[in-house]
Order: sequence, then structure tokens, then C-alpha cells
Amino acid sequence: MLSSVEVENYNQVVEVGDVKIGGEKLTVMAGPCAVESREQLLTAAEIVKENGADILRGGAFKPRTSPNSFQGLGEEGLKYLAEAKEKTGLKIVTEVMDSQDIELVDQYADVLQIGSRNMQNYGLLKELGKVDTPVMLKRGYAAKVKEWLLAAQYIVNYGNPNVILCARGIRTFEPSTRNTLDLNSVALIKEKTNLPIIVDPSHGTGVRELVIPMAKAGVTVGADGVMVEVHPDPETALCDGQQSLRAKDLTNLMNELNKIASISGKKLAI
Ligand code: PEP
Ligand code: MN
Repeated sequence: MLSSVEVENYNQVVEVGDVKIGGEKLTVMAGPCAVESREQLLTAAEIVKENGADILRGGAFKPRTSPNSFQGLGEEGLKYLAEAKEKTGLKIVTEVMDSQDIELVDQYADVLQIGSRNMQNYGLLKELGKVDTPVMLKRGYAAKVKEWLLAAQYIVNYGNPNVILCARGIRTFEPSTRNTLDLNSVALIKEKTNLPIIVDPSHGTGVRELVIPMAKAGVTVGADGVMVEVHPDPETALCDGQQSLRAKDLTNLMNELNKIASISGKKLAI
């Protein structure tokens, strides 16, 4: 069983400029799985901005199961994220996969995302302790909650108290969804720790139609916000099109979240 203060010396509210994650306002992060082109990213950023989300997501360095799949645009992608930020004022969350890229990605990111596959990359976690930029730590797809929290503790112990957890689903015996979004873990973490936690129903389900209901479920059990994949044209997406919301779906999501935010004592200002 978890003790009531499982991770010590972290910040309960993580400030990303004027966006406060873990406070009374729900945080919405949205954007494509991968930055694919300047046009795709800027169009997605407009959609995200128009719908009142806070943070634009988009991977420039992509952890792909197959080495033959699109690996991301690297620094070129980061530059498009910077342009989108400049145009919209949205904050940026993007993944860093390797210690040697932290310095580069940190120049562009307002939040550094650590993907599921790297949750227990302790060398990387130690290096993330050396920056001040908030780190969003996704749960390893086969990691226990305790292991996830201890991974967060690594970042904190090595000097960075700005850690946000992200529940993105775990691998179970159930093949009809891509992952199983473990909402027990969200309720447990809210009960036993004060760490901010975001739910990612896109990777949690892998199915577009399930993203809105599971986002609502996550917020209902106490998540501090959601991260969803949104693509201007999911049919042409180079990555995760089947789970990406269209523009109109994001509008629906925001309306639905607005209705239910107060259930968990939160607000959604749009
Ligand atoms: C992502 O957010 O695009 C991603 C790769 O997520 P995960 O690490 O949860 O698979
Ligand atoms: Mn993805």
C-alpha cells in the first residue's frame, strides 16, 4: 500500500508560465501525435487555440515500435512548435527521448514529456533533475504505480520538483482497446499524493470514439487535466490517426469538460 506522502519535495501545483497544473483549473493539452510538417502543426495549433486549450502537444522525437516508422522531424519539428507558440501564445509540451537531447528540447519546450517507454530510464530521469522545466512523466505501460512514483522521485531527488504525472494506459490481457486506462491509479494518486496528474485517453484507449468518454471519466475521478491527440486530417496522419480527434471533436470535448469540471471541484475557463 502506498504511504500518504509517496513522493516528497515536489511542487503540488506546477506552474508553466500562467498555466497552473494541479490548481483549481483543469489543464487541457492537445495537438497531434507527431509534428509532421509546418502546415500540419500550425493548422493543429489554430484548432487547439480556438478551442481554448492551454498547451499544444506534438512530438518532434518519436518513440516508434518499428524503426521503419516515421521517427519525427527532430529539431525542424521543434522549430515549428516554436513558431506555433509565437503565433498562438500556447505553451508547448514535447517529448525528449534521450539525455543528449535534453539541452536542445529544453530550449523549445515549456513541459518536457517523458514517454511510457522511458519511464524507468534512470539515467534520463537523473538528467531531468538538473533542469527547472516541468517534466510530465507518463506511466510505463507495464509499470506499477509504486514504480511510477519512484521514477517521479528520481527527478525530484536530483533537483527538479516540477513533476506532473500522466496516466496513459497500461498493457493488459484486453486486446479490444490499445491500452487499458487505469483510472484506479488516478484516484489512488489523488488520494495518496498531491502530485498533479493528467489523463491521456488517446493512448489510454487508442480509439477516437472512446477519447471523450474516458477524458470525462478521468476528470471525474480527480485528474487535473487531460492530454488528447488532435489532427487536422487524421486519415493522413503519420502516427496515431485512429485515436486523434478532429477539430469538431475537440470542441465537443471542451463542452463536455465544461459541464463536468465542477464535479471534481474544478473549473474550465473557455
Ligand atoms: C505520445 O504522447 O505521443 C506518446 C508516444 O505517448 P506514450 O509514451 O504514452 O506512448
Ligand atoms: Mn501518439
